[in-house]
Amino acid sequence: MFDISKVKTPCYVVDEAKLLKNLTILDNVMEKTGCKILLAQKAFSMYSTYPMISQHLKGTTASGLYEAKLGREEFDGEVHVYSPAYTEKDMNELVQICDHIVFNSPKQWQKFKGIVEKSGRKISCGIRCNPEYSEIETDIYNPCFKNSRLGTTLDNFDDSLIDGIDGLHFHTMCEQGSDVLKRTIPHIEEKFGKYLYNMKWINLGGGHHITRDDYDLDTLIECVNYLHDKYGVQVYLEPGEAVALNAGYLVSEVIDTAKNGMDLAILDASAACHMPDVLEMPYRPNIIGSGQADEKAYTYRLGGPTCLAGDIIGDYSFDEPLKEGDRLVFCDMAIYSMCKNNTFNGMPLPSIYLQKLDGELELIKEFGYDDFKMRL
Ligand SMILES: *Cc1c(COP(=O)(O)O)cnc(C)c1O
Repeated sequence: MFDISKVKTPCYVVDEAKLLKNLTILDNVMEKTGCKILLAQKAFSMYSTYPMISQHLKGTTASGLYEAKLGREEFDGEVHVYSPAYTEKDMNELVQICDHIVFNSPKQWQKFKGIVEKSGRKISCGIRCNPEYSEIETDIYNPCFKNSRLGTTLDNFDDSLIDGIDGLHFHTMCEQGSDVLKRTIPHIEEKFGKYLYNMKWINLGGGHHITRDDYDLDTLIECVNYLHDKYGVQVYLEPGEAVALNAGYLVSEVIDTAKNGMDLAILDASAACHMPDVLEMPYRPNIIGSGQADEKAYTYRLGGPTCLAGDIIGDYSFDEPLKEGDRLVFCDMAIYSMCKNNTFNGMPLPSIYLQKLDGELELIKEFGYDDFKMRL
């Protein structure tokens, strides 16, 4: 663990050793299956770590032009992209940098096929399909919910328009185990199996929590090998979370305490700006040394320094009363944090540190007033 008194708060600290631990697990899956694993940059795009990640993973995937450019510039590997709809302007640039382009429908493919072919580059194209099966309970994170715009259902899959397509893409999971994948595959096969025989690859998207302690790796390996052997396809996985799961922290300082029916503490980090998934998902991040409300002697409601009434991280208990200057370390803050930051209320962006394997704590980025002003 790094020395929390040495950093400027608020800040993110990413731990190379934890990242490496995840990458080793992913290496093992690739070795046992021949699948290719990509980093989904939307979850984690701290590109100072890309030289390390690219020694393990085969490339990056992007949600659009900017992430694709970042992947091409900073990561030595394949560049994949998927977007629910492309503009012609973006497509003209994407064809210059991407190795795989996934289209949301046969119609999108027909619209851009000409640009892809004219690029003169070898680009493998795929279609995102919606197998109409997922086990995600939160609608906002469920790509298969009713009337979803993400991917094409079998009913809408006009196979007269897929000439030139090499692969099918499915993304139907979120923070789930391989048991969910195993239950999803029969739905994929039932609807799209007949097309898979003619494809070069299948991309099983993200949402695979491969590096979580209780994840069942054997079932994942079995699923990947099954698809590879039955359809003769190269299998791709493109997890975001699993790559940097539990590999980073957000360090925050208590800047004031107050009372209103209970003890309150105001931190220099904001849920709304610096850990938006706490509100959106929602979820409760773990804080080192804390307990559930009332589990330890002193319970506080922790909130951010913004004017948003709901900028509340949660209720936590501690062995000692909190006081100004105390530092709290939030866990699992590498993913869906830095890349979702915003400067609502003129909040400063947290600094970014890297705890390196050799023990050095390197300050990667620091932000100031200009980073707020320049966007407005
Ligand atoms: C979000 C997403 C991912 C990454 O998902 P994780 O939950 O971070 O693993 C991969 N592919 C697509 C198409 C996505 O939308």
